Parts: sequence; C-alpha cells; structure tokens
Amino acid sequence: MTNTRITHIGSHVDKEVAISGWLYNSRSSGSIAFLEIRDGSGFLQAIVNKADVSEDVWNDTQKLTQESSLRLTGIVSKHPKKENVFELQVKDLQVYQFASEYPIAHKEHGPEFLMDHRHLWLRSKRQWAILRIRDVVESAVNEYLHQEGFVRTDSPVFTPNACEGTTTLFAVPYFDLGEAYLSQSGQLYIEAAISSVGRCYDFGPVFRAEKSKTKRHLTEFWMMDAEAAFVEHEENMQIQEGLIKHIVKRCLEQCQEEFAILERNIEPLQKVVELPFTKLTYDEAIKKLHEEGSDIKYGEDLGNDDEGLLTQHSPVPVFIHKWPKSIKPFYVKRDPENEDLALNVDLIGIEGSGEIIGGAQREDNIQYLEERIKEEGLNEADYTWYLDLRRYGSVPHSGFGLGLERMVRWMSGVEHIRECIPFPRTVNRLKP
Ligand code: ATP
Ligand code: MG
Repeated sequence: MTNTRITHIGSHVDKEVAISGWLYNSRSSGSIAFLEIRDGSGFLQAIVNKADVSEDVWNDTQKLTQESSLRLTGIVSKHPKKENVFELQVKDLQVYQFASEYPIAHKEHGPEFLMDHRHLWLRSKRQWAILRIRDVVESAVNEYLHQEGFVRTDSPVFTPNACEGTTTLFAVPYFDLGEAYLSQSGQLYIEAAISSVGRCYDFGPVFRAEKSKTKRHLTEFWMMDAEAAFVEHEENMQIQEGLIKHIVKRCLEQCQEEFAILERNIEPLQKVVELPFTKLTYDEAIKKLHEEGSDIKYGEDLGNDDEGLLTQHSPVPVFIHKWPKSIKPFYVKRDPENEDLALNVDLIGIEGSGEIIGGAQREDNIQYLEERIKEEGLNEADYTWYLDLRRYGSVPHSGFGLGLERMVRWMSGVEHIRECIPFPRTVNRLKP
C-alpha cells in the first residue's frame, strides 16, 4: 500500500493508495457517499459505495462530520469528464477523530467572526489558496535575489532607534538598557552589510505603530529589504522591475489551482510580465493628478485615491520617482540635478494594489547626511555607527523594501490585507 498526498495522486491511476486528511464537505445519495477530502496538498473527491465497503466503514461514513480527520484507502480513477482530475474509489476508511460541530460552516460568515476563528478559518479553500500564493511569492523573492547575486543577511528586530521616524514605534522594556524598539525596517543594517557582501537582503517581520485602519495596513508585516553597493537610481528601478516580473511569472506558473479557487482573472498579470513598467517623476505625477481632477498639493504624499488615479489605465505597475526631498527620510540621496528632489522611488501596483515597494539611492556624502540628521531633529549619537559607513569606504548604493502582504494581496486579488498573513495584527486585532 502506498501512502500518497493528493497532489501526487495522478501518478497512481488504477492503483491502490492511502490518503490521510480531513473531511471538507460531503453529500450522500442513497447508497453512495461523496466525500471531499483535503490533505493540505489539494482537494480530492472520494467515493464510498455501500456495496464496496464493510458495514462498519459505511456506518462511519454516515457519521462523519465536517473536519473529521481520517485515512482512506482505495483505487485511484480518472474523473469521467474532467481532464487531470482524479477520484478515489474507497475500499476502507479509518477515522482519526470525529470532529465536534465545526463553527465555520459552508455559508457566509461576517469578517469579525472569521477573524476570531482565524485558527480554523485558515483551513478554508480560499485561505488555503492565499497561504500557498504567499509561499510562492516568498520563494520567488529568494530565488530572484540569489540569481542576482544578493546574499541574505537578516536584520535585528530589537533596535535602539528608529529608521522611519519616531512616531510609529512599538517600545519594549529592555533589561537595564532602557527601551528597545521593534524594527520598522532593516534597511540601515543591510546598508552596513553591503560593505561586506556587496549585495544583500533581509526578509522578516517589521512593526509600525501607526493607526492606519485601511485595507492595506497591518501593524506587523513582512518586509524584504534589498540593498546593493555601486547600484544607482536607474539600476535600482531595473532590479525592482525584474523582481516583480519574476514573482508574477512564478505565480502564473505555480498557482493555477489557487487562482481558480480565488476566481482571479490572470490576464492582467500576463501583461505585467511582458510589458516594461511605466516611470513618472513626482512632478509629472502631480501634473497628471491635477489633469484628472485631484486637489493634491505639490509636496504632499500620494494618497490611496491618487495612487488609483495614476494606475487606473496602466496595464503595468508605475514607478513614481524623484520626490521632494523635504518629505523623504534623512538617508535618501539628493538629486544632483535638482537639490530639492530626492532619488527615491515608490512602485505602485495595478488593480488597486497600491504601493508595493518603497526605495531610494542612499546619501553617501557624510556632510549632507549630518546636515539632514540635524534638520530632522534626530539624535546624532544614535547614528554614529551609520555614519561610520560613510567614513570607511563610502560607495554609491541603493535599495528598496517590498511589503510581502501587499504583494500577496495583489497576486491573490483579495480585498483586505488581513487575509494575506496567517495571523494578522492590526490596530484592533491581537488574537488569536
Ligand atoms: P504607505 O504609504 O502605504 O503607508 P510607506 O510609505 O509607509 O507605505 P515604506 O515605509 O516605504 O511604506 O515601506 C516599504 C513597503 O512596505 C511599502 O511599499 C509597502 O509595500 C509595505 N508597507 C508599509 N507599511 C505597511 C503596513 N502598515 N502594512 C503592510 N505593508 C506595509
Ligand atoms: Mg506607511
């Protein structure tokens, strides 16, 4: 007897196999029961014919409840009508546990109820599909960056100071050393690591204590920060474009079943792989927004609606680059062609996905950096180590941060980011 998983069932046609999993759904018509089984790798219809099984097995089949765990033995057959779909003609069935009445039935539940039951909700087909897309996105990120010569050098979560400004930090007591802050981004640390390995990235959870109750903000989310020595502004955008295209390509190749479950139209994604991305300077973007009727003022950050207006007719993501220096963090390099602008870039995804990446060429001139630290009212002593990077072999360098859940949200086509991480943390949610 071969133990197998549903994903491999196609290579066992006409053979006897055993599958272990959970009962997802079932229906019975007289002397035949149709069991929809899931085992984590996929979904399978198992058919129990009263005439082919023992009386005990038939009785157990009748008693099975949703989410009961079980092991089935039977012969694999091809679906009579559907190509590449297989079924199991059950000969024997062993129940690990008859599940108690399952709180999540196959009907509509409100989001709060589902979020309270997140530990169970994860088992639904839709959540299964999103978890798997997330996994494919993570692998694709690792794969692309390694292919481009980046070395993974992870950054600490406990940090002594802020990277993005002090208003959105979570503070935690830290022994005799006062307060530590949960990292908002590992960027400053990977800037140090490039002088060792040239190109590097980190990939892990970051924390923002901002009270943004949008469909795109979590308080804990996963960020991939990449940084490269000797890479300047234009090449920084090329690397980002290559990365996004690679992720989309891998999702198209590996997530067909998941996209079908989510009823996600993949046509727009195919275009993203084929066509070059659009670039707009901040100035051009503001002009375009005014033409579209937006009342945004020069020097303001782009809001959700602005991002929507700028991407609504675009088949590809749009880079918005060279923003006013005054609204960008101290470490962003000033544009040598215009002192008031910064060599930064945001990448706005299509289909309402919003900002996916924020990046910039970094200031490599120590005097400019010192000035900016003063201007921002930051404590210079906190940045001594960071300034050392400009004292000992400073180089032009650039990097960017990709929000994993933003990317997963876009790929999955789901409305709310809370479905894009296994256990979401938001302003109002810390459980389960
Ligand atoms: P936004 O303007 O959307 O709040 P941001 O400008 O604060 O984003 P960055 O600080 O540049 O974002 O962070 C880099 C990336 O991390 C963003 O492009 C986005 O993909 C992701 N990101 C930022 N904040 C959040 C959040 N609260 N929840 C989930 N992802 C986020
Ligand atoms: Mg933000």
